[in-house]
Amino acid sequence: MSSYRIQGATGEWEVVIGLEVHAQVVSNAKLFSGAATAFGAEPNTQVSLVDAAMPGMLPVPNRECIRQAVRTGLAINAQINRWSRFDRKNYFYADLPQGYQISQLYHPLVGEGSLAIEADEKAGIAQDKQIGIERIHVEQDAGKLMHDQHPTRSYVDLNRSGVALMEIVSRPDMRSPAEAGAYLRKLRAILRYVGSCDGNMEEGSMRADVNVSVRKPGDEFGTRTETKNVNSVRFVMQAIEYEAQRQVDVLESGGRIVQETRLFNPDSGTTRSMRSKEDAHDYRYFPDPDLLPLELDEAFIEDCRASLPELPDAKRRRYQEELGLSAYNAEVLTAEAETARWFEALLTEGARIQKKGEAQVAKASANWLLSELYGALHRLGKTLEDSPVSPERGAELLALVADGTISGSIAKQVFEIMLETGDAPASIVEARGLKQTTDTGAIEAVVAKVLADNADKVEQYKGGKEALFGFFVGQTMKAMQGKANPQIVNELLKKALG
Ligand code: ADP
Ligand code: MG
Repeated sequence: MSSYRIQGATGEWEVVIGLEVHAQVVSNAKLFSGAATAFGAEPNTQVSLVDAAMPGMLPVPNRECIRQAVRTGLAINAQINRWSRFDRKNYFYADLPQGYQISQLYHPLVGEGSLAIEADEKAGIAQDKQIGIERIHVEQDAGKLMHDQHPTRSYVDLNRSGVALMEIVSRPDMRSPAEAGAYLRKLRAILRYVGSCDGNMEEGSMRADVNVSVRKPGDEFGTRTETKNVNSVRFVMQAIEYEAQRQVDVLESGGRIVQETRLFNPDSGTTRSMRSKEDAHDYRYFPDPDLLPLELDEAFIEDCRASLPELPDAKRRRYQEELGLSAYNAEVLTAEAETARWFEALLTEGARIQKKGEAQVAKASANWLLSELYGALHRLGKTLEDSPVSPERGAELLALVADGTISGSIAKQVFEIMLETGDAPASIVEARGLKQTTDTGAIEAVVAKVLADNADKVEQYKGGKEALFGFFVGQTMKAMQGKANPQIVNELLKKALG
């Protein structure tokens, strides 16, 4: 079993990682006000009196935000707390007009859950593993400060103020940068499947606080540092690697780790100290007197549960067990909700046109999507979302191959033309005369000519050089512009060569 260790002068060190992920809730309105949440709006155009903390304004919980957090909790098999409460976390900052953030410290909406990461030999993850999730609580986001150098001015944009966040807190269960990366990718996939967060790390709708400590294997947990607001999977992995090595260096040179908050610098891949870590009591948390505790009834929770789609793990298993796909293909096709959606549309349509079961068209569909379509999209700099070819058209193309109208190699040509023209595959085949011929007489004549033209090679073949068979197939196909049915070509060649 391979495990991640840092080699020091005094022996091997183990890394312990826990992640706190802030995920912006998908909702048209903010957590406690009706102001809009759309990304990229002009500064201060989406700010209600509540978000600007005008005196006397009262927060009203947004049912949709609560619903999204509960759905997320159910998706990680977590306990949903029927009774939860909002607390005020008091601190001063220029982007926080209230002087406190409404959060949940003592009684979070979602309790204990977990998430599975898969073994990945290449990444050094030796086996499947469950990562514990301690809680998900709901809280408000703050505004944003912008600093100008010339002249020296600061501006505040309150559009983000009051937007609902889920804070998803893992247990310190991860032991390598790769495991943390796998956890984040899986979490992001689940959020996107559920539709409770768009998972867009570049736009900041998902960011991670990275808690890292090191210890000698078997020892108690060491003191951790927390690197704030890291906004890509790669950066999280880099931050862990850097921070773990730094801590080992400090400890081995006789120093000790102080519990502190650090900042990640993406340009250098390093972290630096920002401030010493506050403790909960520094924030003077207390129950928000403007808000009643949240009480959920069973019907609400059941409604949330019923609204959940099939999730990535279940889907992956179904693709392998019921559709007969390889573990690798099942993994790739389910990693993103959009890929699975596209694939399933392709399957449904393929099964309908070919009048077969989905399992019977699954392999060809998966192979075509992952090689032909992905290859083309990559070349064109596009994604499935703006694919020039729809699942319906893709299914039509595959059906033409399946029923023998065109060969696999002609299908590649037809696909290229589909990408350029957007035409239906059947009309391309018709207009360009690409139909595969099963006319045995015509193929036989070409086979005879190919063999006559290559009498020397026929001699060699008969003398035992059987690899030449492929050459004859190729010549015959070429002479027929790829339109001969390959199976018939094979049969006739075998017959002719005795
Ligand atoms: P805080 O709010 O002070 O950051 P929390 O308990 O909410 O504290 O979050 C702590 C986070 O740090 C969790 O993700 C937890 O898994 C992680 N963590 C706790 N102890 C350690 C440790 N010794 N090493 C690494 N991570 C840790
Ligand atoms: Mg924290």
